[in-house]
Amino acid sequence: MSTKDYLEKDYYKVLGVSKSASQDEIKKSYRKLARKYHPDANKGDVDSEERFKEVSEAYDVLSDEKRRKEYDAMRAMPGGFRGQQGGGFGFDLGDLFGQTGTSGAGGAGERIGDIFGGLFNRGGATGGRTTGARRARRGADVETEVTLSFGRSMNGVTVPIKLTSEAACPTCRGTGAKAGTVPRVCPNCEGTGHETRNLGSFGFQEPCRECRGRGLVVDDPCTTCHGSGRATGTRTIQARIPAGVADGQKIRLKGKGAPGENGGPAGDLYVNIKVLPHRAFGRSGDNLTLTVPVTFPEAALGAEIKVPTFQGQPVTLRLPEGTPNGRTLRVKGRGAPRRDGTKGDLLVTIDVQVPQKLDDTTREALERMRAAGDGDDLRGELLQQAREE
Ligand SMILES: [Zn+2]
Ligand SMILES: [Zn+2]
Repeated sequence: MSTKDYLEKDYYKVLGVSKSASQDEIKKSYRKLARKYHPDANKGDVDSEERFKEVSEAYDVLSDEKRRKEYDAMRAMPGGFRGQQGGGFGFDLGDLFGQTGTSGAGGAGERIGDIFGGLFNRGGATGGRTTGARRARRGADVETEVTLSFGRSMNGVTVPIKLTSEAACPTCRGTGAKAGTVPRVCPNCEGTGHETRNLGSFGFQEPCRECRGRGLVVDDPCTTCHGSGRATGTRTIQARIPAGVADGQKIRLKGKGAPGENGGPAGDLYVNIKVLPHRAFGRSGDNLTLTVPVTFPEAALGAEIKVPTFQGQPVTLRLPEGTPNGRTLRVKGRGAPRRDGTKGDLLVTIDVQVPQKLDDTTREALERMRAAGDGDDLRGELLQQAREE
């Protein structure tokens, strides 16, 4: 059972009394429930046995004024015990109870264990244990950006990524207290983190001035983090970028984010991929694209043309007779690598070129071609269509 579980137990609810119940009410309710769930009266009934234990445990704490007060104070604490995140309370109090960590891990655990031990170590029916109290917490996800050349995006690459993350201060393990000391429950607010100020007949609550709402005070601040309990760490990880990533893709590297706390799993690293354009090849999904210039006779008469492939031998592509400008031909398996080891295709788009300079022979040939096609009316139909409503 963790400390957190312990504190999440609502002893008042277990006993069916209000938070302001008197000792008499508590005792009365306990007796009634204890009779009802007593093992002797419920032979072999596991549920009753559990309830009996809970009731005994609750009574054990609430019947003792001092322990009850401690219990109330700790349940009211901002953050920490309740696992609340993002409050002003930057560390997990569960840490402080940790007696399970590495051997000799610390004075801190033991000393604060003493302070709160009155509550946790005097086992009720279930035997209050603090072992296993450290609460595992998953590390944060981290996002970063990597820019790759086209070639590297195609081949895959391992890139070093420098990550800066805020972590618990290693010196004080996030408590903010100097080595060998521990924070203590704020005496001003008794750990609640807030105090009531009276103005005339009105009372209102505000964050405790003594502890600034943490519920704890640090007498001797840690010299490394000056009491904040936080540290900025830099680490470099080797991120494996798989072959075939595309520009704009986001890659999740499981477990490469911020480290977890207390044995919790690490967060994930999200890498936003930027790929620099290639001068010849483009990308369309798993396919590579390539625009290939061909002459008018090649397109008209058909031809075998040699086209480059990415990082491979050129391939010969057969252009059929009468290939129109802009037609796309497919070269199977010469595209980008996929996760399953196969590859996309190379899409070759034909770009028919118009000769810019004509020598006499070419000009003569073209003139003859025009003469041969005399009478062809390419635009007749278009002119017809244009007149339609
Ligand atoms: Zn305080
Ligand atoms: Zn520190």
